[in-house]
Formats: sequence, C-alpha cells, structure tokens
Amino acid sequence: MQIIGYTESSQGAPFETVTAAGRAMQYPKATEAEINKAVELARKAFASYRFATGAQKAAFLRAIAEEIESLGDELVKTVMAESGLPEGRVKGERGRTCSQLHLFADLVQEGSWVEAVIDHGDPNRQPVPRPDVRRMLVPLGPVVVFTASNFPLAFSTAGGDTASALAAGCPVIVKGHEAHPATNLLVARAIQRAAKRTGMPEGVFSSLSGDYETGQALVEHPDVAAVAFTGSYRGGKALFDLANRRPKPIPVFAEMGSINPIVLLPQYVEDHAEQLAAQLVGSVTLGAGQFCTNPGLILLPEAKAESFIAAMKKALEAAAPQCMLNEKIFEGYLSALRKLLGAGAVEPLYAPSENSAAAVRPTVAKTSAAAFIQNPLLHAEVFGPFTLLVTWRSEEELEALLQSLEGQLTATLFAEGEELLSHKALLDSMRELAGRLIINGVPTGVEVCHAMQHGGPWPATTDSRFTSVGTGAIRRFARPVAFQNFPDELLPDELKEGNPMGIKRMEG
Ligand code: NAP
Repeated sequence: MQIIGYTESSQGAPFETVTAAGRAMQYPKATEAEINKAVELARKAFASYRFATGAQKAAFLRAIAEEIESLGDELVKTVMAESGLPEGRVKGERGRTCSQLHLFADLVQEGSWVEAVIDHGDPNRQPVPRPDVRRMLVPLGPVVVFTASNFPLAFSTAGGDTASALAAGCPVIVKGHEAHPATNLLVARAIQRAAKRTGMPEGVFSSLSGDYETGQALVEHPDVAAVAFTGSYRGGKALFDLANRRPKPIPVFAEMGSINPIVLLPQYVEDHAEQLAAQLVGSVTLGAGQFCTNPGLILLPEAKAESFIAAMKKALEAAAPQCMLNEKIFEGYLSALRKLLGAGAVEPLYAPSENSAAAVRPTVAKTSAAAFIQNPLLHAEVFGPFTLLVTWRSEEELEALLQSLEGQLTATLFAEGEELLSHKALLDSMRELAGRLIINGVPTGVEVCHAMQHGGPWPATTDSRFTSVGTGAIRRFARPVAFQNFPDELLPDELKEGNPMGIKRMEG
C-alpha cells in the first residue's frame, strides 16, 4: 500500500517481502505514476512547508508521536511479528522514536538551530563600506528516506531521518523496508493523520513500498533534494553513486556500518578480565549483534590473551540463543562469517554446532596483528553476533593495527588510572578513525541527545561531517544562505535586528 499525501493507492503488482515471519507476496510495488505523484506533492508541499514556523513543525512532530503511541499494542505486536524482536526491545524502541520526535520538536520550537550569524554593515568603513551580511540555515527540499531493517521504528518510517528532515522543513518520502511492511504502513498512516490534524500541506509526507527499482527511481527523480540511508555498504554506495551520476547531483547521507574497534590495555584486562569479558560479550550479542555499533573487533594484548579468552568463553556459554531479523539477514551473516573464517590465519575460539535464524548463538575467532594488517578480508563487517579478537605484542603493533583500519562509527578504549592518562597519543590516533570515542563503555546503545555524533569517516558513512542520531542530524537537510544588505522587513524573523524570536545568534 502506498501512502501518497492524503490518499492511499495500490496500483502496482505485489512483490515478495522477507520478514521474520517468512516470505510473503502481499505488498504492491509503487508504480512510476505513484512515485511521480508522491514527489510532485512533496515539491508542492515544500513551497509552503519550508516557511512553517518552529511552533507549527513542533506541533506536527508531537502529533506524530501521539499518533504512534495511540497505536498501542497493535504496533508492538506487528513489529514483534515482522522483526522477531522481543517485546521489551520493541517498547523501548517505540519510546526512543517518540522521544526523538519530541526532541526535534523542542529544537525547532526554540529556533536557534538555524545558526544565525550577523555581521553588521559599516557604511563608513574605508576604503570601501562593509556590507550588512546575515546568514542562517534553510531547508534543502524533498528528502527520500531509506529505512533500516534493524530498527523497525527508531530508524524507520518515523525514525531519526524522517524526524530530522521534517524538523528542518523538508517534506519526506519514505522508501519502506521490505523487512517490516505492515509496521511501515501503520506508522505511515499515523504520520498522515498527524499531518492532517495539524494542517500540514498535502505531500509533506508519503511512503512508498517496492524494491531496488523503486528506491532508485526516487533517488534519480529531479525534484528530490537529498537522501538519507541506513543499511549495508553495498546499498549505500550504490545509491551514493547513483545520486552523483544525476545531471544535478544531490547529497546522500548514508550510514553503512562499522566494525567498531575495542582497544584493551594490559593492566585493565588483568584487573577486570571477568567483568570486561561479560560486558563485551553482552555488547556483541545485544540484539543478536544486529547493530551498526556492534563491537566486531577487539584488540587484545597478547600477554593477557589467555585469561581474557577464558573469561570470554565463560560469558559466551551463558549467552542465550536469539532470533535474527529474518532469513535474508541470517544468510548474510553466515556468508560473511564463512568468508572471514576462511580467509586464512583465523582460529575459531567459540562456534555453535548449530545455528538458525530463529536461534542464533555467538561466534568468536582470533587472529594475529600481522595477519589482520595484511588481509583486508579480515576487516569486513559480519552483521550478527560475532567478534574477532586480534592479539598485539607491542604498542607499535597496536598503532599499526589502528592505522590499517578504515573509517569507523566508534572506537573504544578500556584503560584507567595512570595507564589511561599515559595513552593520550593512542586516543589521538583513535580520533582520526571514528566519529565517537568511548572510554570504558560499550559502543552499542547510542544516546539520542544534542552532543551525539553517529557517523564517521568513509566507509562508515558517506559524509563524516554529519550525524544521523541526535539533534545535529537536522544539519544534513539544511543549507546556509547569506542575506546581504536586506531591509529588516524582508529578512527572516531569525535574522531581524530586534531578534523577535529571542534565539541565540553570533553577532559581529
Ligand atoms: P540494505 O540491503 O542495505 O537495504 C537498506 C534499504 O536500501 C532497503 O530499503 C533496500 O531495499 C535499499 N537498497 C539496498 N540496496 C539498494 C540498491 N542497490 N538500490 C536501491 N535500493 C537499495 O540493508 P538491510 O536490508 O537492512 O540489511 C542487509 C545488510 O545490511 C545486513 O546484513 C547488514 O550487513 C547491513 N546492515 C547495516 C546496518 C547499519 O546499521 N549500517 C543496518 C542494517 C543492515 P529493499 O527494501 O528493496 O531491500
């Protein structure tokens, strides 16, 4: 079913979806006419929505949260059936989705997010007068959002990408994920109701179902201004390339995953082996390892390897089997695992004798620093409950390991006291690698807050300057415009001399 502005439509032929409940042919693929209609409505809606006040956008975002909450158990049961995720996780994710919407509502209602900067003019400046220049962020235009399979609510139809684009003043067209089509439909209808009851222009939101062709047609559409994506490197890169091949290229903000290196220093391992092993196994197996922040790489001092591995095996024994999102993700997990384990010089330390999509158990393997540095196949993300231990024998080797890595979402260091304070240079190296640095914590569990950075150097994301989690995510969908020598009456309220909105501004 397509949600196109204030209507519903299902003109296309059904396509196969792959959910935790199995494969089903029941969702119509958006036709070319439906795609064009959704984009056309978004283009028209942008003409007025870009001028919506912070209060109007906040009312819309809050109404979306209310509509989602009012779906009650029906939504929880639908997500559980389609994703295989347990009730507690689904309810937690619903809470996160709604509080994210409220956070963006607060942000735009307050108004300072536009980063207003004012340089007053000086007609008496010599040798030439100085112009009056004022700058602020304005919305980009219609945004296409590709939703993630592993967060059916918080990174999906009404997730962070949609919330931040709507908050910026951009209409959104969602390409629904095939892994949770019924969830997508419930939430899309909730957004549609919220848009109607808060008087938003028709086309401020649409949601289309379909396959790769559907998503590609949206990215290629001349009236689309930007793309947000969370998923695989292959998918993100394909859409990034497509957007760059357009006659008028557009930005693609793709979050494509990471192996999130964890660096362990020897004294810390010696002092905390059991607790540390349990903490790391908890993070590796959280959500069956289906997180882009899953710690897929642990850099372990060789001298402490034996005791740490023994503690880790104990923690692994205690890990309960879990359900993966669907067959396709499970097959992808097995295939990535086989490739990595077969890449040479890898010793499996812990591997289940049986594994299935409905009851997956963690796998852990080990290799040496030299093997890891030489073989890029060992750097691949294995999306699921897996981690690779790499042992290092000297700090030079540890530095070389870090140098061999590509861009990451996170990098973590476990150390304390003098051992921590004497490793500032190591933290400086880690800073070049990742968007978020963590000391003595696990990378899973991304706080939604103002200061969060969820993004990192390529290939973790397509643009390391931006975040896809937290209020900073709004900056992806806005561009700066400078207004030079404008009379006060023609300036946006944010830039007027008397600061009628009372926002924070930088003035010179
Ligand atoms: P995906 O395959 O990258 O798909 C994400 C979305 O992009 C889906 O809507 C998909 O369409 C679309 N898409 C992918 N490639 C495309 C292409 N070439 N052209 C047009 N549209 C394209 O991710 P997934 O299905 O969520 O999971 C598959 C794998 O991605 C996992 O096994 C894991 O390795 C990785 N993953 C990473 C993250 C992360 O956080 N970075 C999250 C989830 C998954 P369809 O709906 O039609 O398939």
